Amino acid sequence: MLYPQEFDVIVVGGGHAGTEAALAAARMGCKTLLLTHNIETLGQMSCNPSIGGIGKGHLVKEVDAMGGAMAAATDEAGIQFRILNNSKGPAVRATRAQADRILYKAAIRRRLENQPNLWLFQQAVDDLMVEGDRVVGAVTQVGIRFPARTVVLTAGTFLDGKIHVGLNNYAAGRAGDPPAVSLSSRLKELQLPQGRLKTGTPPRLDGRTIDFSKCLEQPGDGMPGAARVGGSAAMPVFSFMGQASQHPRQVPCWITNTNARTHDIIRSGFDRSPMFTGKIDGVGPRYCPSVEDKINRFADKQSHQIFLEPEGLTTNEFYPNGISTSLPFDIQYALVRSMAGLENAHILRPGYAIEYDYFDPRALKTSFETRAIQGLFFAGQINGTTGYEEAAAQGLFAGINAALQCRGEEAWLPRRDQAYLGVLVDDLITQGVTEPYRMFTSRAEFRLQLREDNADARLTEPARHMGLVDDARWDVFNRKRDAVSRETERLRSIWVNPKNLAATESERVLGRAIEHEYNLADLLRRPDVHYAGLMSLDGGKYASPELADDVSRETDFGKTVIEQVEIAAKYSGYIDRQKDEVERAAHFESLRLPADLDYMQVTALSIEARQKLNKHRPETLGLASRISGVTPATISLLMVHLKKGG
Ligand code: FAD
Repeated sequence: MLYPQEFDVIVVGGGHAGTEAALAAARMGCKTLLLTHNIETLGQMSCNPSIGGIGKGHLVKEVDAMGGAMAAATDEAGIQFRILNNSKGPAVRATRAQADRILYKAAIRRRLENQPNLWLFQQAVDDLMVEGDRVVGAVTQVGIRFPARTVVLTAGTFLDGKIHVGLNNYAAGRAGDPPAVSLSSRLKELQLPQGRLKTGTPPRLDGRTIDFSKCLEQPGDGMPGAARVGGSAAMPVFSFMGQASQHPRQVPCWITNTNARTHDIIRSGFDRSPMFTGKIDGVGPRYCPSVEDKINRFADKQSHQIFLEPEGLTTNEFYPNGISTSLPFDIQYALVRSMAGLENAHILRPGYAIEYDYFDPRALKTSFETRAIQGLFFAGQINGTTGYEEAAAQGLFAGINAALQCRGEEAWLPRRDQAYLGVLVDDLITQGVTEPYRMFTSRAEFRLQLREDNADARLTEPARHMGLVDDARWDVFNRKRDAVSRETERLRSIWVNPKNLAATESERVLGRAIEHEYNLADLLRRPDVHYAGLMSLDGGKYASPELADDVSRETDFGKTVIEQVEIAAKYSGYIDRQKDEVERAAHFESLRLPADLDYMQVTALSIEARQKLNKHRPETLGLASRISGVTPATISLLMVHLKKGG
């Protein structure tokens, strides 16, 4: 049957990429259909029940700054929050939350069900409708043909998915879910370049059978005892619109350790490991290795920390973070029981590895539209990434660009100095992947300006212009932005003379350190000077009349405004230098390369560079410069060639 209505955007897959893609396209006014295997698994966390972390938290904040769902859903579902790297600089500080997976799914589903312009439909998609080189819809398992102007494919680990436990394996998309085999074959027919990757997950444990008295308790920030483990007394929130009062009851995690016996048990299973016996071809995530991989690669290490993370408030299930494994079940059983506190642990679900198809992201345009088929966009794990956050960010991005295409507008691409999202997209389309890609702050060369705390300042305005941000968020954003700029101006207008700094010892120290009159904004740039200290000078005469109330009541608004003013002052020197670098790079970054340029004819370039450029066909000189094997010398020669009108 041909469905009687045409959609602007069809999103296939209701995982983290698919939900953000569908919500974004619908927020932008496009008639959007989310087609997914099972409505019950919308927003399902396939692996660990946690959101955020270093680099990943930055992506979540960016998705949030553009009106996305992940951070707000985490505020409603998070049962333990922590700020990682709290004692380090703000650029690498990151929020991480342990989520109740049932509450998380409910929070995502509620948003999807109540989003205007968005329709949900439960069916497997087995085929794409393609006319010439353009996608025109999707076909489901029972033959319903849904016409659409664009399709965003976010099939995650499901394409030809195969689960391994020891030497046993079976077809699945993840444990308990069917694989997408027909769709995988169809994509192979379309000759999109692809490969196989793998990922894994640990066995889950029944909390009633864990002896927590033998484990170390790890409370989250804002919980009693947080300071004991280096945490903060303040309760973090994820969304720029979030409140700590939205969080459900907070619970601790627990820590145990592997030991020599655990390692012996693991080694005894190597001969039945699908990884070591060549049953698995796909490459796994380097930064999230299986426990057998860790024991094999770091043979000298005596012990590894294992975090026992609660899966929710209404379940006894625990996620033992650190023992992802595809070893046979008898080995899993013994290795779990070899650890302190887990001597009698009952395994509720076995650990496993999954192999799946991914598509080479170098075959995507900068909008994530496939080069081969117009109107077909890819996002999430299908592009060779790993992680909910990377998936959500890509989903938002592909959803935006599918919607822009429907509106007849230019694609949107954030720059590398504007967003981690820009870094992610740029890395994927220029470098491709050789292993599952995850985000790190070290991937961002402009990370001082790409902080979690200023994601809204970087992205809320462009998102508002594209129609992604509602009035409530826009009002909050403007209130904060205006307050920050008023306070910064106020500090610039207040001058203090060292001669007048004598009332207290701290004033005298400051007075001796400055040789002439300074305004408060410049004083704040000094590493040893803090906002609170300036406000207490001269009996508090410089305190902000506007913020004083917020400060005394310790409101989140007052705190965030002051934090922004202080960070901007402290980092202004570095940020100005980075801005100069960005401006210098911007000229050649955005220089467009002719779409029909035959690089094989640019004889000044090496054969390797010519072949690479012909293969990747970068849209701009900036993208060309990041193709691996394309050297700065190649870029200079290419610029000369372009200047000559070549
Ligand atoms: P998914 O979350 O996989 O969602 C895909 C969605 O598409 C599902 O709803 C599915 O039902 C639907 N779908 C697929 N095909 C079709 C079709 N043909 N028709 C209709 N619907 C379809 N990440 C980490 O960061 N660290 C880890 O350690 C880690 N371990 C993992 C272990 C396992 C076993 C698995 C399965 C995943 C793991 N992940 C891990 C990855 C993480 O789950 C993914 O990165 C993330 O879920 C990807 O989001 P996504 O939206 O791209 O895909």
